[in-house]
Amino acid sequence: MIIGCHVGMSSPEYLLGSCKEATSYNANTFMFYTGAPQNSIRTDLKYLKIEEARQYLKEHNIDIENVVVHAPYLINLANCEDVEKLNLSMNLLDTEVKRTLAIGTKYLVLHPGCSLKADKNVAIKQVSNCLNTIIDNNPGIVILIETMAGKGSEIGINFNEIKTIIDGVNNKDAIGVCLDTCHINDAGYDLTKIDDLLDEFDNIIGLNKLKVCHINDSKNERGAHKDRHENIGYGTIGFDNLCSFIYNKRLEGKIFILETPWVQCVRKDVYQYVAYPPYKFEIEMIRNRKFNENLEKDIDELYNK
Ligand code: FE
Ligand code: FE
Ligand code: ZN
Repeated sequence: MIIGCHVGMSSPEYLLGSCKEATSYNANTFMFYTGAPQNSIRTDLKYLKIEEARQYLKEHNIDIENVVVHAPYLINLANCEDVEKLNLSMNLLDTEVKRTLAIGTKYLVLHPGCSLKADKNVAIKQVSNCLNTIIDNNPGIVILIETMAGKGSEIGINFNEIKTIIDGVNNKDAIGVCLDTCHINDAGYDLTKIDDLLDEFDNIIGLNKLKVCHINDSKNERGAHKDRHENIGYGTIGFDNLCSFIYNKRLEGKIFILETPWVQCVRKDVYQYVAYPPYKFEIEMIRNRKFNENLEKDIDELYNK
């Protein structure tokens, strides 16, 4: 099983630090932002310890092709109102694509954006056109459109919208999908019926287009259009449904990435809450297919010293 989680990337070890964080959770892949997701300031590639990271991954038998980059969420290719902002989005995405390729991987997860006040079909067409430009300029990249929860004017909130984006992209090898279990639950899909769900995905988009799955439970009921992630087995989707998804034969070989929230523990010395990552225990419970009802306690014991 290829399973990992979202990890940080920061000074001084940068990408090497991300790799070490991932292996500390017993992950065999990971996802990261190449810089702060909410701005366009980027540390020069020469400081990211890319060679050291690649060496480390090799020693740990991790295929760098399974490592995933997430594009900054301020990119909005669906903005049809403000040309200047659209140009900024295009430049930022182009930079991220080049950074992804320079690191030696190819999968870049992208939120399809928000149509704002524009007609949804017009916005979707524009996203495809923008992707064509980016893809033509950057051979080798594979952009994965993420399924969205349907907050505000988000596009990509059902399989048909994502299919329409893909249809507008000329180079089909350079486009795929990242399915987020929390997002599709919040968008209204029923995760208690995984085979029906995968049938629908396969009929509309094709499961061969699915490269990465974000595995998150949800704080909200199906169809809430909220997008708030919950720890595995602690939300409205539930452990058994998430496992039925992950262990479905048709998803064998897909890349699974956890984006669940860090867990708050009380620091006795300062009487303050401090958050710690849940991933070591969540990966363990998924691999063992056994729910851990003591997640908070286990995290507290491991990290809160
Ligand atoms: Fe995302
Ligand atoms: Fe996600
Ligand atoms: Zn989300």
